[in-house]
Amino acid sequence: MSDERFIYDLSDGDASMKTLLGGKGAGVAEMHKVGVPVPDAFTVTTTACVETMNNNGEWPAGLADQIAEALARLEERTGRILGGSEKPLLVSVRSGAVFSMPGMMDTILNLGMSDASVEALATEFNNERFAWDCYRRFIQMYGEVVEGVPAHAYEDALSGLKHARGVENDTDLTAADLKELVSSFKEISNDHLGGEWTSDPREQLNRAVNAVFRSWQNPRAEVYRRANNIPASLGTAVNIMQMVFGNRGDTSATGVCFTRNPSTGERALYGEFLVNAQGEDVVAGIRTPRPLEEMQEILPEAYQQLVDTMHKMENHYKDMQDMEFTIEDGHLFLLQTRNGKRTAAAALKVASDLVDEGIISKEEALLRIEPGQLDQLLHPAIDPAHGRTPIAQGLPASPGAAVGGVVFDADTAAERGGKGEPVVLVRFETTPDDIHGVIAAQGILTAHGGMTSHAAVVARGMGKPCVAGAAGIRIDPVARTLTIGDRVIAEGETITLDGSEGKVYGEALELIPPQINDDFTRLVEWADGVRRLGVRANADNFDDATKARELGAEGIGLCRTEHMFMAADRLPAVRKMILAESPDQRSAALAEILPMQQVDFEGIFTAMKGLPVTVRLLDPPLHEFLPNLVEQSLLVQRLEFERADADVLAEARQTLAQVKKLHELNPMLGTRGCRLAMLYPEIPDMQARAIIRAALAVLDREGETVGVEIMIPLVALSQELETQRDIVVAAVEDELARAGRTLDYTVGTMIELPRAALIADRIAEHADFFSFGTNDLTQTAIGISRDDAENGFLTSYVMDHVLERNPFESIDVDGVGQLVAMGVERGRATKPKLKTGVCGEHGGDPDSITFFNSVGLDYVSCSPFRVPIARFAAAKAVL
Ligand code: ADP
Ligand code: MG
Ligand code: MG
Repeated sequence: MSDERFIYDLSDGDASMKTLLGGKGAGVAEMHKVGVPVPDAFTVTTTACVETMNNNGEWPAGLADQIAEALARLEERTGRILGGSEKPLLVSVRSGAVFSMPGMMDTILNLGMSDASVEALATEFNNERFAWDCYRRFIQMYGEVVEGVPAHAYEDALSGLKHARGVENDTDLTAADLKELVSSFKEISNDHLGGEWTSDPREQLNRAVNAVFRSWQNPRAEVYRRANNIPASLGTAVNIMQMVFGNRGDTSATGVCFTRNPSTGERALYGEFLVNAQGEDVVAGIRTPRPLEEMQEILPEAYQQLVDTMHKMENHYKDMQDMEFTIEDGHLFLLQTRNGKRTAAAALKVASDLVDEGIISKEEALLRIEPGQLDQLLHPAIDPAHGRTPIAQGLPASPGAAVGGVVFDADTAAERGGKGEPVVLVRFETTPDDIHGVIAAQGILTAHGGMTSHAAVVARGMGKPCVAGAAGIRIDPVARTLTIGDRVIAEGETITLDGSEGKVYGEALELIPPQINDDFTRLVEWADGVRRLGVRANADNFDDATKARELGAEGIGLCRTEHMFMAADRLPAVRKMILAESPDQRSAALAEILPMQQVDFEGIFTAMKGLPVTVRLLDPPLHEFLPNLVEQSLLVQRLEFERADADVLAEARQTLAQVKKLHELNPMLGTRGCRLAMLYPEIPDMQARAIIRAALAVLDREGETVGVEIMIPLVALSQELETQRDIVVAAVEDELARAGRTLDYTVGTMIELPRAALIADRIAEHADFFSFGTNDLTQTAIGISRDDAENGFLTSYVMDHVLERNPFESIDVDGVGQLVAMGVERGRATKPKLKTGVCGEHGGDPDSITFFNSVGLDYVSCSPFRVPIARFAAAKAVL
């Protein structure tokens, strides 16, 4: 397919071509189209990258030629020659994914520098120092990114030279120094490559394009994609762009700006810049830049032009923009624009303000909210009345409170954080290579870098508190200590970060529950007005039910009753029930448990009065109530050895016999759910009575009660449901008759076994509602044990892209999802108005919610804290 088109020149693209040109390529093309100054460029498509990946790194036919032709056109348009000895063309080779992944992939600047062009550049701009600075930057970046020369090799040479010259900053090195540095850098490169270093810019360009392709698959990009659910199959585009120079002296600068504050959403310009520098210095957090406002005095014209452009692009995209710019000798160029990453609070405020400003509609505002991000709003905050003095002050790079033990490298953060230990990652600067540590940490503290560095951008997107550029903190990575003034903090000691204020505290501060703000309340009401799906919560006690209601739950979709049996005060009675030798003995034991369950239900029903509550009858296997087989055997052996008291021994032996009898090799597929209730009908009888007594008690006390929905678990056969329904209805009617009362109630079932979905039409004859238990349905349909899989092959499946997502996190639409769709369809064939819902992890997952909406479920049920997420996701599913 040599005639496939892999290249688009700057003027051939626009914003709609993001999939092909990547976000960056489409963004610069769009800016060019609307008259914003951007350097001339061309883009290699994502398709070229994908084809290369799929072909073991071989370029597709025609790509090399098309790049050469596009380069010739660029040379023609700019009147310059790549690597030329007169008016040389320098370019950057930039990664550019469809969904932005700040700093995760590679970019090479100043390509085209060579022995010939360095002199030409120096002459053209009458600036020798600048030309040699570009050259040494190029060798360093190209060597690291393209040829894999270790970064420290160049850094050591650079700091060695600075030391020899007695200077502190790179900017203090003279042209002669830099010239010397270039020859040592060349040597370093050559040494590492065994003399294979190429100095031909055209060859370098091809190798750089290839390196950017490869960087799509580097470990940090993988980690970032997994954390953000970006498919690995998309590939990156590559942008080849003429260099503009922010490092040409004091009338040149580079920086990053946001059209609104990405932490809070406030409508105020937000940005940073550095005079006489290249963009990488700001975004990589190498130097701590200055606040944008200060640019007004230094470069007033360019500043005004930048502000106008920011407003122009925000109006054009109707969303907050994150932009990169460079000023070369007073002339402004924009290098990137994208919808800015923001915290959840900022997302809500920006969307709400844009509606007030008449720029977007309410529906568009809802589409701007990432539901998955909203749990950030529910993180605890620092108690403002703490009265402590901070030990250090940095930039408030990402808001929120982080309390944790100090760690000094990303691997340790990932290891300890992965075990659930709260850690704060403390780094001199964070690089994108730290991404796995950032994900695992509570917060991030850096000594260097600004609020627009990639690290800060990523932290805000994930809602991780971050204090950046904290001057005066000293990190000793070898001794593993952090020194602030005379306070020395060792690894593991606890500190607190206040990311909203940029403050660091040398101890754990008290946290308080978060406040839901007005923007949230306003937008979630819009969401409620739009969505079709109901949103309920999974809650088993008064506190959770209360929380769920506060967060907007419209009822309980799953109230588990296991813990009502497991609590310490009930276990003796439960064991008595299990060990009972006749139904009468069993009923007697259950009679002891009934009042305790009733009290539990009363609590939940009080919290939920006026709303429906689905109570699932007992589900787990009986052996869970008994001691472990191995432990009990050992106990008996020990008692025998110790010649223990005869009664004690007899009891232990009886228990062991019972444990053996109930022991199952595969308890997850064993005597669970309604199977247990089929063996011991006294259990559902007792539970139904406790539910009805509680509902009546709450009605009497509170004047209203809940909509009682009794749910039978783990049904596979319609006979099971028929029998269980009869038992429940008989118990309920008996209770009501004795009390001389009436009460509406329904009896339904969980659909959580493939067979139940297949025969849903027959099951529906005995059910008033279906609730899809997609956790067990996933387990039984795919045949993966939920409890074991995450420790084993499932994790590698996701790593190796055998599976794109963990099916327990987000529903497997193609497989398990089809069982849900079929269950709804067949159930409704029998009962057109059959109420259907879903409970389990998937009920709070935005992508799964979109699917559940599409198959016509009536509601989703999720954990209380995910209720707000589900309300937004359900609205987005409709829009
Ligand atoms: P990333 O995705 O890591 O931000 P970029 O491709 O945006 O990588 O480039 C990194 C830095 O280099 C940015 O600050 C950008 O502004 C700067 N840069 C990229 N291309 C050019 C160019 N043609 N001229 C000047 N600076 C550039
Ligand atoms: Mg960038
Ligand atoms: Mg289940």
